[in-house]
Amino acid sequence: MSTDAAPLEGRALFLYCACCPTPCRRAMPTDDAAQHEACTPSSLSMIALAVIDGQLAPDAATRAALARTAAARACRAACPYGFDVAGAVEAFAAGLGPAPAAAGAGAGAGAGAGAGAGGPSTGGAR
Ligand code: SF4
Repeated sequence: MSTDAAPLEGRALFLYCACCPTPCRRAMPTDDAAQHEACTPSSLSMIALAVIDGQLAPDAATRAALARTAAARACRAACPYGFDVAGAVEAFAAGLGPAPAAAGAGAGAGAGAGAGAGGPSTGGAR
């Protein structure tokens, strides 16, 4: 009923979108690449949320998943809440900073150190 609510940002936006039944999906392109479930705004939000909550490492696979925003961008105007999820995901991914070193680069000594330690950083510094 309230129409004066502050716009959602960050984790709150991702949580809201992740739980949404995706009515915007009808506006997504119909080609195969765009119709992957992982490309929907709610799936992208779920991935971002999992990173924020420390349930998913911001590794190369996660970053690649977060980079698939074309379909979410294409259906942005169809979000009844006016969310720009593609933009939010892109900004979130940019805030993750440089990707961790490739798995083979560490020679195994620190194999466990980078995967779950530290958690995501959404801070502004690089
Ligand atoms: S972008 Fe809007 S309509 Fe689409 S899943 Fe997210 S909250 Fe729902």
